[in-house]
Amino acid sequence: AKASGLGRAHYYTAEVGIVTRERTRLLHGLQQAFDRESLFLVYQPQLALAQDRVIGAEALLRWRTDDGRFVSPAEFIPVAEQSGLIVPIGHWVLRTALQALARLRAQQDGLRMAVNVSPLQFAQPQFLAQVDQALHDAGLPPSCLELEITESVAVMGMERVSALLHQIKARGIAVAIDDFGTGFSSLSYLDRLPADRLKIDRAFVSALDSGDTTARIAEMIVPLGHRLGMQVLAEGVETPAQAQALRQLGCDEVQGYLYGKPMPLDGFADWLAQRET
Ligand code: C2E
Ligand code: CA
Ligand code: CA
Ligand code: CA
Repeated sequence: AKASGLGRAHYYTAEVGIVTRERTRLLHGLQQAFDRESLFLVYQPQLALAQDRVIGAEALLRWRTDDGRFVSPAEFIPVAEQSGLIVPIGHWVLRTALQALARLRAQQDGLRMAVNVSPLQFAQPQFLAQVDQALHDAGLPPSCLELEITESVAVMGMERVSALLHQIKARGIAVAIDDFGTGFSSLSYLDRLPADRLKIDRAFVSALDSGDTTARIAEMIVPLGHRLGMQVLAEGVETPAQAQALRQLGCDEVQGYLYGKPMPLDGFADWLAQRET
């Protein structure tokens, strides 16, 4: 029994070793990509559901490797987060997305930009000053920026999170709770996060036209968000049936392939122009 126990220990060690090498390789590649400016942003439209009107976009990070392959942010964001590289990358995302918004607002007045903020970035003492500077440099009012955070910001302590969110709100910057219902979160956080918008995760939205009981969750998030004074945005909307179900639920806003995929800035501008005519 002792021998097999040791054997198992070796096995696990080897596994961890492989995972670590893989992560190191990924991190090295990401660092280089950031240095060589081969990271870029794409923008996915967000619409008011009842009015079918474009209200803004979410900025999403992309990494194209030298051999033309795309690495999914789901793969590299966790690595960037663990290494701390997400802090300079996140700062760049914020500045780039706001510059893009300045251009898009010349085309359609009042558009806003939603930017993902990782918990580590959010916890930086200089975060708010960087946001202020980025808005100032892009010549934009605070009200056109929305910061998307997840419930995992709670790791920095709810006292600090609450204080920071109040400062953000005082400036007129909007806050969205992303991926709601997918983490190991507790509903008790929700009324302590003064947010403007609740985003229903794609996992719940895709259940809406499947007859799956998971659909009940999406159905409950809409009134929950409204009761807490938030707008509710459904993400990952892919079918007209899902849109119809969301309309009946009174969901406020939508985002998903049914309306538009994430697009480079030029593509987004063209897409917007097409809709206007
Ligand atoms: P997220 O914030 O939940 O972003 C939504 C994801 O759903 C995006 O994946 C988007 O491309 C995808 N999506 C949108 N509509 C549809 C649809 O109709 N169908 C399907 N199947 N997918 C749809 P993406 O771009 O791969 O991003 C994955 C995650 O990476 C994001 O999830 C976000 O958590 C993270 N991420 C992306 N960009 C950034 C960033 O700049 N900073 C940080 N911290 N995280 C980012
Ligand atoms: Ca997001
Ligand atoms: Ca999300
Ligand atoms: Ca997600």
